[in-house]
This record gives sequence, C-alpha cells and structure tokens, in this order.
Amino acid sequence: MAIDCPLADAPVRGRAALGWLISEAFVSAEPTDCLLGTKKGHAPGPNFMAAISGSHRGSVTVEQLGSLRANGVEVVVGRTVHTSGGNGAELTCPDCRACFEPGQDWGDAAATWYEGDDAVSYGCPHCGSVQLLADWDGPYAWGFGSLAVVFWNWPRLDPGFVVCLAEQVGGRVRLVHLHL
Ligand SMILES: [Zn+2]
Repeated sequence: MAIDCPLADAPVRGRAALGWLISEAFVSAEPTDCLLGTKKGHAPGPNFMAAISGSHRGSVTVEQLGSLRANGVEVVVGRTVHTSGGNGAELTCPDCRACFEPGQDWGDAAATWYEGDDAVSYGCPHCGSVQLLADWDGPYAWGFGSLAVVFWNWPRLDPGFVVCLAEQVGGRVRLVHLHL
C-alpha cells in the first residue's frame, strides 16, 4: 500500500512494482484467474517463498498456496480504503504508544477520506494526539491511497522483501493484513 503516491503516478508506479515482481519470479508474468471474482491476477511464481517471512516459510508450501482458489497478486490503482477485513482495526499511537481498537468514528473518518478529503485526521482516544488517517500504523492498520499491491492469501511477507518492493513503488508504504 503506497501512502503518498498521487493518483496520476499510480499506474506507472504500479507497473514498475509488478514488473519487478515478475522479473524476480515472485509472480508469474501472465495474468490468470487467481483472484476472487472476475479480475485476473498474477499467480505465485517459482521464487515466491523468498517473499515470505522466515517464521512463516514453513506454514505454507508452493503446492498449498497453488491449490487455493485465490492466491494471486493484484495491483489496485485508484482511491481506495484498504481495510483489514475480519481483523477489524488496531492502531498504535506514535506518541503515548497505546494500542487500541478505534470506535465507529474511525470508520466515519475513513468514509470521509474516501469521498475525497485527504486532510481527515484521527485523534488518539488516550492522549488526544492527532494524525492523518494514512499516518496511523499498528498491528491492523488500514491503508489509504491510490496504489496498492495486494497479495491474496499469502502468508506474512518478509520485511526485507517489503523494503525491496517499497523501493520499486517509491515513497512510504504500509502493510495491511487483510483477513476475509
Ligand atoms: Zn496516544
């Protein structure tokens, strides 16, 4: 999830990220039917295991991921709120370090952002520290932006891999752990 990428740059930067994923064999070059719904994605490539966090590498085999109905990588361009799905939301305050599940006002703020207001902010319920929505990080942070690379059903990604991917995308990125 690229936080700062302007919509106008998203297609080019999304293509760059996808090109790198293909050239490193993390995903296959040909789009196939590997997502939910009718969209096509890029299935895991021969080198996909190198993208998985070390502690999770044993949790799934190439065959297991390959057998899942949805296992592809999708580049999403366009203003989108990337939620954590069934994981809800869990944020960590950068000032008081409180970790909390935000209330309904978080969803309301996200809806306002989606309607086009980049300046929407959210205040920590513990100390009142205010951050822009996209700046909120945490165990189950959400992503707000115009460019995202979505890994369907992949185990937790390796931090080094995420850094490399972020270099391809450019700017700040945020990991969003989606659970359907
Ligand atoms: Zn706080």
